Amino acid sequence: TLTWHFKAPMVHDFMWAADNEYVHDVVPMENGPTLHFFYKDRSELKENWKNLQSKTVAAMEFFNKNIGPYPYEQYSVIQGGDGGMEYAMSTLITGERKFGSLVGVMVHEMAHSWFQHVLATNESKHSWMDEGFTSFISSLCMNEIMGQGMENPFDGSYRGYYALVESGKEQPQTTHADRYDLNFAYGIAAYSKGSIFLSQLGYVIGQDKLMQTIRRYYNDFKFKHPVPNDIKRTAEKISNMELDWYLTDWTQTTNTIDYGIKDVVAEEDKTKIILERVGLMPMPLDILVVDSDGNQETFYVPLRMMRGEKDNPYPSLKRTVVSDWAWAYPTYELIIDMPKEKIAGVSIDPSQLMADVNRENNTYQAQ
Ligand SMILES: [Zn+2]
Repeated sequence: TLTWHFKAPMVHDFMWAADNEYVHDVVPMENGPTLHFFYKDRSELKENWKNLQSKTVAAMEFFNKNIGPYPYEQYSVIQGGDGGMEYAMSTLITGERKFGSLVGVMVHEMAHSWFQHVLATNESKHSWMDEGFTSFISSLCMNEIMGQGMENPFDGSYRGYYALVESGKEQPQTTHADRYDLNFAYGIAAYSKGSIFLSQLGYVIGQDKLMQTIRRYYNDFKFKHPVPNDIKRTAEKISNMELDWYLTDWTQTTNTIDYGIKDVVAEEDKTKIILERVGLMPMPLDILVVDSDGNQETFYVPLRMMRGEKDNPYPSLKRTVVSDWAWAYPTYELIIDMPKEKIAGVSIDPSQLMADVNRENNTYQAQ
């Protein structure tokens, strides 16, 4: 009798797979775990499953660098299951996929090693912290290791979220995973809106601070069961801003964001830009102004309740920090030191990382 003993310290679930048709490739990483690949011995699978191996190394390196060190000794990518599913130290993936899809699923499931197995959030209660954060980091990873070169790698998440808002079927992210009326509403709330929680947090506190927040969150809460307040407090400590309003509106309500440029009015040699908050959810604003010579500068309108400011996200452009948008005022008057006829265009949030549900009113162009 041959007896196998498998040891898996510090995990909260496990999976095993066996098939006497499996090919078993082993790829030891220099400063990291040993990667194992198990797939059916079929000629039509071989090329993709061989090419997958260097991408798995690249993904492991990406997550180690951007989230924190993978704490286990091995990770296995196994052909099996009914799609893609994450397990401690392993994933089961259906094998007959196009290469991009095979890599995409591997990246997503492996990212769950951080956002589920080490940061063991209750995914029934806070699915957005699990699937959403996994989707966020997977989008960044795919953009890098597959050389996608996307300006906004989260574009698909934003489109999904806007479609959900448009459908009128949205339920808040505090809904238990089993209590969504539609699977569509669960999927978008968890994966897409959960991913935007982070990409949009990068807009609020700055991209560097966002990535610091993720690394600090991992370091402080690894092998624990973090709850929504933990990611918020971590971001507050890193950014020196108050972010209670962000967690509340984004995750506990279906309030949407919609800012607009209501009017642009000449005031002698200055210009008054009247900004309007149409949606219920408040956000700080980056305003880009382009003059008739093509010069660009930005204006930053923080929210008073943040009690802080982010760094200039466009260091090559002059930025003016103007007075805070206070309380729940629906409008704000931005006075800029430029005659109206000199202004060629104004736009709210050129990064489009703020999930504004109506971008039609985000720009002004001189006639
Ligand atoms: Zn997932």
